[in-house]
Amino acid sequence: PPIVVTIDGPAGTGKSTVALLVAERLGFQFLNTGAMYRAVAWHCLQHAVNLQDAMSSTAVAANLSFHIVDHKMQVDGVDLSQEFRDDTISQAASVIAAHSEIRSILVERQRQLAEEMSLVSEGRDQGTIVFPNATKKFFLTARPEVRAQRRYDDLRGHSDVSYEQILKTQQERDLRDMTRSIAPLQPAPDAEVVDSSDLELDEVVNLLVQKVEQ
Ligand code: C5P
Repeated sequence: PPIVVTIDGPAGTGKSTVALLVAERLGFQFLNTGAMYRAVAWHCLQHAVNLQDAMSSTAVAANLSFHIVDHKMQVDGVDLSQEFRDDTISQAASVIAAHSEIRSILVERQRQLAEEMSLVSEGRDQGTIVFPNATKKFFLTARPEVRAQRRYDDLRGHSDVSYEQILKTQQERDLRDMTRSIAPLQPAPDAEVVDSSDLELDEVVNLLVQKVEQ
């Protein structure tokens, strides 16, 4: 049967990059669950649906199809990953992610994908809620200033947002993700916590692959 490795953690730890590389090394597909929440938020914004309105935004989520093609999340057959990078979508995603109805829909889709293929599944609740029996669980963290600096370096050239602004919105988003009543961001009791603050990307990837294989 397919195998699941979960990687959860706050924004800006490099989780998505790490998860993709670990998936490639293991020969699994990469499931980017943040992209699913971002896609729902993006479609809500496109159709001027109020993000606070649980019923309307849930209807948007229910009508989308999610597939993984070559590690990329395709939503209704379109790879939207480029549109997702800006901060408006990040904030909007964390608002709609607090609706329990939307979470139920996306959790079900995530489990369906895991029936079809082995996954490295990355998000906030993969080890705690979606895949409690995952083969291996990681919780990736880094100091807040390190995470904001990485994001700032990533966006340089694409956006004129300041480091201070990134740190501030990152704190708001972390707080919203950690304090929401449904599926708050926290490590699963059996997750291995990895702090990437003082590690290079390839060191993190090697560490995780080694721990999965041991
Ligand atoms: O991981 P990423 O930063 O792309 O996720 C965007 C937002 O989607 C997060 O801030 C969080 O609110 C939400 N999310 C979630 N559960 C997941 C993945 C993402 O609530 N499994």
